Amino acid sequence: MMNKNKKNHYNTAKNVPKMLPYRECIGCGLCATVCPKGAITMHWRNGTWVPRVNREKCTNCGLCSRVCPNTPECMSEYAVAAAISGERFGLQKTAQYFIAYDLNPENRIRSASGGVLTAILSYLLEVGDIDGIAASVPVPAPIGRPHHEMRIMRSVEELDKARSSHYHPLAYDKVLKELKSIPGQYAIVGVPCIARGIKRLPKNFQNRIRYIFSPVCSKNVTGQFLDCLAEQEGIAKRELFTANQRDKFGGISDANNFSTLFRLANREIRRNRFKTGWTDMWRNYFFTPKCCLYCADFYGVDADLSAKDAWGHLSKDPLGVSLLIVRNPEIVMILKKLNKDRKIFLESCDAKEVFQSQSGTPKFKHIEVRDRLVWEPAIRQELLKRNYLFGTSRRWWHINSLRYWRLRFLISFSIFSYNHWGSAFIKKLLTLMKIRRLLISIPFSMFYKIAKFLGVRPAPRRTFSRNLRVLISGGYGYGNVGDEAQLSSNIEHWKKAVPNCQITVLTPNELYTRQNHNVKTALAPRVVFFRGIYGDWFGFKLAFFLLTPLLLINAALIKRGLPIFVFHSSFVRLFTTLLNSDILFLSGGGYLTTTTLSRLWDNMLFIRLADILGVPVIMSGQTILLQDRFSSRLAKWGMKNVKFIYLRDKFESEEYLKSIGISEDKIKSTFDDALFIRGASTDLVLKVLKRNNIDVHKPYCVVNIYQHKALLKNYHLALRQWASALDSIVSELGLQIVFLPFLPIEEVVAEKIVKLMQSPSFLIPYNYDFKIPIGIVRNASLCLTTKHHPIIFAMGGGVPVVSVAFDEYFLHKNKGALRIFEQEEFLIWCNIEDLSEQILKKCREAWQKKKEISAITKRHLERLRPQAGEVIYRWLREGGKKNSGH
Ligand SMILES: Cc1cc2nc3c(=O)[nH]c(=O)nc-3n(C[C@H](O)[C@H](O)[C@H](O)COP(=O)(O)OP(=O)(O)OC[C@H]3O[C@@H](n4cnc5c(N)ncnc54)[C@H](O)[C@@H]3O)c2cc1C
Ligand code: SF4
Ligand code: SF4
Ligand code: SF4
Repeated sequence: MMNKNKKNHYNTAKNVPKMLPYRECIGCGLCATVCPKGAITMHWRNGTWVPRVNREKCTNCGLCSRVCPNTPECMSEYAVAAAISGERFGLQKTAQYFIAYDLNPENRIRSASGGVLTAILSYLLEVGDIDGIAASVPVPAPIGRPHHEMRIMRSVEELDKARSSHYHPLAYDKVLKELKSIPGQYAIVGVPCIARGIKRLPKNFQNRIRYIFSPVCSKNVTGQFLDCLAEQEGIAKRELFTANQRDKFGGISDANNFSTLFRLANREIRRNRFKTGWTDMWRNYFFTPKCCLYCADFYGVDADLSAKDAWGHLSKDPLGVSLLIVRNPEIVMILKKLNKDRKIFLESCDAKEVFQSQSGTPKFKHIEVRDRLVWEPAIRQELLKRNYLFGTSRRWWHINSLRYWRLRFLISFSIFSYNHWGSAFIKKLLTLMKIRRLLISIPFSMFYKIAKFLGVRPAPRRTFSRNLRVLISGGYGYGNVGDEAQLSSNIEHWKKAVPNCQITVLTPNELYTRQNHNVKTALAPRVVFFRGIYGDWFGFKLAFFLLTPLLLINAALIKRGLPIFVFHSSFVRLFTTLLNSDILFLSGGGYLTTTTLSRLWDNMLFIRLADILGVPVIMSGQTILLQDRFSSRLAKWGMKNVKFIYLRDKFESEEYLKSIGISEDKIKSTFDDALFIRGASTDLVLKVLKRNNIDVHKPYCVVNIYQHKALLKNYHLALRQWASALDSIVSELGLQIVFLPFLPIEEVVAEKIVKLMQSPSFLIPYNYDFKIPIGIVRNASLCLTTKHHPIIFAMGGGVPVVSVAFDEYFLHKNKGALRIFEQEEFLIWCNIEDLSEQILKKCREAWQKKKEISAITKRHLERLRPQAGEVIYRWLREGGKKNSGH
């Protein structure tokens, strides 16, 4: 009867409102520490501490939930922070990093790694900086009882006996109550979840805690781990023992080869950890608290100092080395003092050294945790509320989810098996697992070799970064002044909108783009996928139809984390770049047209791949021209999920998009991205003009002539017409003629016309920074061009323009640009035979109206200026912002 009553009064935490489900409890006892009614007591059950709540005493004040480090609210808060920071969460820029160890080898060998934690704690006690240290100590106990407990240590001798890592549950309620009752300043040692709970304690506790020290923590285990191991080593049920799970005595080959040590009244059992069940049980998550699967803090982000083992190249030293993350400058001073006094070895290092010492675990805890958290309903609810960066969908097919369920099974199965069938069964289970591994690994390695031979590769992985990663694609890297100006302008907009964003530009000429724009680069899809087979239409189209299904299938495989096949390494690099971008930005140009069909097709394919990989796409400054059915269908397929499409000319481009069913609210017509770009300074422009023998005190007409196909048909006639028109401009309008090529090839046409002209003219050779021609155009008195970008630069400087178009492609582009500034009347669309006459006529008119034109264009510039870079700001405002790291 007595027992029955007791059961009614005391329940595990899961029965108390606002308390967390039992699964996420680590048994830290912080809830019991703060409960004002003393309603919570900690009990040792099944190898761990469990809070029990006396419901009669509980007033439901919620204090326990507020300090608990493992409530769904708290866990999701840290998961979101880790998602924002990426895999290096906790390795803050403001922290300092050290490689360190105690210079006394005896101390070192008795410590977990380099013994630095004990060295600092001892110093703090010796100089009286603190009155005591709350840390774990080993206690002699039989199987079934705790083998470590928290204690407040006040002497260096006590501390010395506490060395090593204690993989064991620890309840902090007693030490915290003691610490509160005895005035003084204390340091506290605890794994990251303890540090996050300590930070939540009420002020009357906080005031007593001077420093928090945290061993970096991949996971912990329950007391059953040690009990099971002790039984496997032949220790009887009632024998008292202490254990050291990180023993380094006996000349171990390297720090990784530590032993497990059991000290009993009459003997010691010391065996290499690879020869006992320790390593297999640890690696297979036997007896791991389930909450460790949901914990997103590896480096102990809340601690003043976190210490970890120097795995990797530094682990060759068998005495052990520690890596330190120090977030409190006072501790840095103490470390430097200890180093000066020749107590410890201390060498500064960077966050990379710490990360690389064990790179798999931070990825597991900070990134892959996403696929574990979402299976826990209470945590998932919280993540949903917080708009979790990684999303809250349950990716059952994903390898991380499979790993999660495997680990959950192993945790539950190990506990169930031990409780029902004992340690002998666990030992057999481990042997079976070893055999199974062997049986799987032989065919698997053969399969791997065959798969490698057939071209199967691991799918690229997505990494996460704090900074927004922008991938820019367009027709860049060919040295075309106009295109490079558009790119430069867009890079400026991105950097202004998100100062710390990382920009990668896709280009066929990585060196050129890197040197001119100071950005990261990757090879453009057209080079990677089609290797430049554009001239040969049959070759391109065949390659397109063969490759497209293959690329789409592989993108779908990557999306699901599955291996991909038949891929060249350059494909994998491009996929990795795309996958690791937060936005694909199709920066403007005239390349989405049927005239440049191969570029239209390859861009549609690329944005489709981005869509499959979940990378959003926006477009700016585009001209669209769709003149055949297949291209229209392809454009529809490619652009249907693009978030925003900004155009550089209003009429035709918009019409083409609407005709393929792109929704109107996505489309906006503004202007060419390069309209407001800064050109070279006037001083530099004048210097270049002088260097080319141009009289800087006389007005000049800048001329840019593209070698159109239409022009080539009647090449000699066209050249003579140009020469005659330009001669008339010199004689009638009194303007100097300055040829300004925007591409190296344009020099050839210019040279020929110069030779045919009667009057002297000037050719500025193409070897400049793209900002110089912009300045030269804006400094001119008249601009005569066959291309789109000189119009944009001239309009940007209020300079009158006459434009000649020989085909529909240029007609569309040039008309679009002139229309924005009400200058359509200065577009010439004529036969070669009338060319000279038409040019002279229009130039004469433009020259006469130059003041009026300048005033109109300036008025339009003021109207348009607020729209510069609008698509970027719009995307950031409407959802992209959460990725921007602001
Ligand atoms: C559960 C757990 C998991 C860990 N996982 C990793 C890992 O994945 N990777 C990694 O690099 N490092 C890990 N560490 C940390 C590492 O094992 C060492 O603890 C750390 O490098 C400090 O070594 P040291 O030689 O400087 O400490 P020592 O000089 O040996 O001093 C250790 C001090 O910490 C105290 N202490 C030990 N265990 C605990 C505990 N559980 N709670 C409170 N106080 C304790 C001891 O009382 C002692 O004062 C883990 C530690 C623990 C406890
Ligand atoms: S405070 Fe600690 S012991 Fe209490 S419920 Fe939370 S994790 Fe468990
Ligand atoms: S809700 Fe308040 S009274 Fe109840 S157990 Fe928690 S802290 Fe104690
Ligand atoms: S993994 Fe997290 S929850 Fe588990 S013991 Fe370590 S710090 Fe605590």
